[in-house]
Amino acid sequence: MKKEKFFFDANLLRYERIEESLKSKFVRFFSVVSAVLTTALLLTVFLHKYLPSPQEKSLLSEIDVMEVEYQRLVDEMERMEKVLGNVQKRDSYTYRSLFGLDPIDNNVWRGGIGGHNEYENFEQYKKVGETIIETQKRLRRLKHALVIQSKSLDTIMNYAKKEEKFLASRPSIKPVRSDKLAKGVNFLSGFGYRIHPIFKVKKMHYGIDFTAPKGTAIQATGSGRVVKATRNAGFGNHIVIDHGFGYQTIYAHLSKINIRQGDQVVRGQLIGTVGSSGISTAPHCHYEVHVNGKPVNPISYCLDGLSVQEYKELVTLAGQVVQSLD
Ligand SMILES: [Zn+2]
Repeated sequence: MKKEKFFFDANLLRYERIEESLKSKFVRFFSVVSAVLTTALLLTVFLHKYLPSPQEKSLLSEIDVMEVEYQRLVDEMERMEKVLGNVQKRDSYTYRSLFGLDPIDNNVWRGGIGGHNEYENFEQYKKVGETIIETQKRLRRLKHALVIQSKSLDTIMNYAKKEEKFLASRPSIKPVRSDKLAKGVNFLSGFGYRIHPIFKVKKMHYGIDFTAPKGTAIQATGSGRVVKATRNAGFGNHIVIDHGFGYQTIYAHLSKINIRQGDQVVRGQLIGTVGSSGISTAPHCHYEVHVNGKPVNPISYCLDGLSVQEYKELVTLAGQVVQSLD
């Protein structure tokens, strides 16, 4: 209810209503409106400053989740660093050393951590900047070490493949399968000076003669390529296999040749049979091993299925005989 104002008229001796001017009404109205607006504005600023809005509340709770997740990722990264550290140790002191490779230098593992400018964007954030920069550096180191590790494994793999091929190619078994000591080798002529069976003179014998009945299987002693499968006066039917890595083997006096020049053969493959072709006095396989073009004692390359004792006996036998078969 609107309040009315009166004044006392002394002349008329009565109260008269005071009529408010339009201007005064306007001034009063705007005063009230501006007071209300100012109060509302101050209240809004206060609430906005000290009490979070629903949107801010939601953002704050998202930040909380992110902080927890961030810490979890940092912990995970630490575990990965430890695992990689173990792999690096095995890489350096087991795998690389197996192939005679030097361990990778620590400085190579660590690598650079990037230029200063790369991180300056984060330096402005006083609260989280340092954490972000440190995490980025760790992540970069981890990534770098993984790349180095991957390259190192490539190198090791290449060496292993080469080694695998080498092991498969190197002559390492006897050429005659049935020539087991247990089955009785009654005659075996070794590498060295021997009296030639036909010429009866002391002559260098460049191989080992494995005696066996005619027709006994002869096997390739390592993987390789047949570079000769032919017949001549001295060796009779004979085969030459090139094993790579500087190794060649010769199998002579065969009764039959089962492969052709140019064939690829694997260790243990049947290549021919024992005979007495060429200059020979009895069925046997004359076996030679050449390393870089020079004949070496094949006894060092006959390691298959023999116990230490059997191998010693084989070496003794090969050394005792004074006359070769060819
Ligand atoms: Zn011989």
